Amino acid sequence: SPKKVVSIHWFRHGLRLHDNPALLESLKNADEFYAVFIFDGSVAGTATAAYPRMRFLLECLSDLDAGLRKLGTRLYIIHGQPEEVFPRLFEEWGVSRVTFEQDPEPVWQDRDNKVKTLCKQWKVECIEKVSHTLWDPQSIIQANGGSPPLTYAMFCQVTDIVGLPPRPCPQPDFKGVNLPVVDNKKDVMGIPTCEELGVYPESERQKNPLGGYVGGEQRALELLSLRIEKERKAFEKGQCLPNQLNPDLTGLPLSLSPHLRFGSLSVRRFYWAIHDAFKEVSQCEEVPTSITGQLIWREYFYCMSVNNPMYNCMEGNPICLDIDWYQNQEQFEKWSKGQTGYPWIDACMRQLKEEGWIHHVCRHAVACFLTRGDLWIDWQMGLKVFDKYLVDADWSVCAGNWMWVSSSAFEKVLQCPKCICPVRYGRRMDPKGDYVRRYVPELKNMPLLYLFEPWKAPAEIQEKAGCIIGCDYPPPMVDHKQASKMCMSKMEKIKNKCRGLPHIAPSSAAEVRL
Ligand code: FAD
Repeated sequence: SPKKVVSIHWFRHGLRLHDNPALLESLKNADEFYAVFIFDGSVAGTATAAYPRMRFLLECLSDLDAGLRKLGTRLYIIHGQPEEVFPRLFEEWGVSRVTFEQDPEPVWQDRDNKVKTLCKQWKVECIEKVSHTLWDPQSIIQANGGSPPLTYAMFCQVTDIVGLPPRPCPQPDFKGVNLPVVDNKKDVMGIPTCEELGVYPESERQKNPLGGYVGGEQRALELLSLRIEKERKAFEKGQCLPNQLNPDLTGLPLSLSPHLRFGSLSVRRFYWAIHDAFKEVSQCEEVPTSITGQLIWREYFYCMSVNNPMYNCMEGNPICLDIDWYQNQEQFEKWSKGQTGYPWIDACMRQLKEEGWIHHVCRHAVACFLTRGDLWIDWQMGLKVFDKYLVDADWSVCAGNWMWVSSSAFEKVLQCPKCICPVRYGRRMDPKGDYVRRYVPELKNMPLLYLFEPWKAPAEIQEKAGCIIGCDYPPPMVDHKQASKMCMSKMEKIKNKCRGLPHIAPSSAAEVRL
């Protein structure tokens, strides 16, 4: 009789049942099917995750497990190194096929290559499918003549040539597949707690997700419907989301970035939902790239990192400028703890640490302040903080944005953009001061006039507000005017040195987004 087909689908990112082409391959003509997730100490960014991101991942796994149980099976959680775990499973379950979603970043290649080699040795069929990104990054690189496009504008030109990304694939069909449940008890191969994984909350607020925000495919799809409804209304008014002039700074409850990061939402599903909504509302044949521009930024940063294992470093990273950043630990800690004395910067850093999410305008402001704007501190130090605390922290997206904001790579390299003023920018983004008052409660009674620069408040006003600067809240750690002047002149000198270097992106392709 023909050999039984016993499939394992190995989840890492892509924590969903919808639009999961590798899962479909797993089920094709399968006699038996197992879904596994392996905790190996670093899978899906777990090596650096603080409590909010680890909790989010575990919620995604619980939701996936619940979805699989409805279909008659479950998620098997295993601890160990994949190259040791798989031979055991091959033997125990008589496996003949392994499937997984492509993890495009270079940090995962070693792990995946080991498993591919193992499959060869064991004569197990191994199928890898692209669905974490809209396009296979390798196909973009190929279309660009063998190297990734150096600028966002060039990237968009290449995607125009490659054509629209594939539409989402159908829901998996488990009919006719034997779904053995080795042990139905939760504690055997079940989902661990954060504490069991050695990750503990650092504050009360970290324990309580903002606005009931939770991980998992079910919630991601609900959020997507809300988001598309909002987009549709904006399109009807001729606008385009996100609105960065009047941002919702506490907008985590509607953000989809953590879901895209773990793949509890398919990026293709998101892309095509926006695309189709625009087409329907506008009745236009052509959908402008700007409508899905944010998702293209994600693609761009992924694509740039694919062949560059040093992408998250300055040294040894061919696209990153070598800059003599300061390594001032004392100043770095003031920034990281939200004790800079600039209320807007401090509110952003405190929200990041307490809730695991901050709005794009906040990320931009604090990253600029740390690097080329005020403190001239190494972007890699800031990246480490983001990489630990952000629920959506992505190896390539986070590093790419840090290089971007610090003017270390991409179109930014030959520009000397203006530094963000932490007082004026804060006032513009938070005109009523609600955000600053919420995260910097020391200043909750400070009049709006002084809220963003409280050191200017006369002594009696500080006293009345119950906040004496230098006692209840720190004075500004640097004078922004002087500090930004110093940074600008340093940057100018560096840029003059780099003009004409071959690996530097041409400034003519400059794209203004941030
Ligand atoms: P929307 O504006 O609704 O955008 C939709 C999606 O597009 C996002 O969910 C995200 O996947 C993608 N996207 C949007 N902006 C960007 C961008 N600039 N670069 C790449 N992708 C983008 N985003 C992450 O997902 N992970 C990170 O680790 C991350 N680190 C960042 C670090 C810095 C210093 C900065 C300035 C930005 C960073 N961003 C990161 C980008 C951006 O701030 C977030 O994606 C966005 O705030 C998420 O909110 P949203 O889901 O409402 O985004």
